Amino acid sequence: MSKLVLVPTPIGNLEDITLRAIRILKDEVDLILAEDTRKTSILLRHYQIAKPVTAFHQHNEHQQLNRIVQRIKAGERMALVTDAGTPGISDPGFLLVRACISEDIEVETLPGPTAFVPALVNSGLPCDKFFFEGFLPPKKGRQTRLSQLAAMPVTIILYESPHRLLKTLGQLAEHMGPERKAAVARELTKIHEETRRGTLTALIDHYSNTDIKGEIVIIIDGNRQ
Ligand code: SAM
Repeated sequence: MSKLVLVPTPIGNLEDITLRAIRILKDEVDLILAEDTRKTSILLRHYQIAKPVTAFHQHNEHQQLNRIVQRIKAGERMALVTDAGTPGISDPGFLLVRACISEDIEVETLPGPTAFVPALVNSGLPCDKFFFEGFLPPKKGRQTRLSQLAAMPVTIILYESPHRLLKTLGQLAEHMGPERKAAVARELTKIHEETRRGTLTALIDHYSNTDIKGEIVIIIDGNRQ
């Protein structure tokens, strides 16, 4: 039976890949679909995986969908990987999963690295219930979304880039109040990994005097009133 396998890859530390992920990429697929073929080649070289790799990213996924689905139906075994973490989580993957399901192709997603889980658990904020927002809209709809998030009674997770961190923390403080608790997880699993916890004001104070670099997850306490 034809099948697509989604394979999570490390978010920094190359050791964070499962034995099963390596085996599947090495021995059980004919082709690896990758968001960035050069980045994926580094991982594949590291694990001595010699497999053909082809590009599948947000700029070509619509055009590629049909061709890929037909090739899987014809018997090719394929894996989808992205630059880091789990495909489909703020990354390409959803459209392909949906297209495969609608064509009765089996889809299997391996458990593995994703940035928001360690960021959430390590924040010290309640992780029994949470809302994953991913990236906020950069412009249109941003204020509306911030107001909606401010009312949520559960922990909120945002992905953010370093150059927008301060602006976003400022807007969160405006909508949620300066004393709302939060955490910034930066460079998870990498040499300069850091989790900073505090009120939104304290985080703004800290990052106003810092050269902000690296990949970032923001965790914000829910509205507990
Ligand atoms: N698919 C990925 C996942 O499963 O987490 C997310 C991909 S998304 C395009 C990239 C964003 O994830 C970054 O901008 C950052 O917000 C977050 N991220 C990825 N790696 C990270 C890391 N090592 N430390 C902190 N955040 C990270």
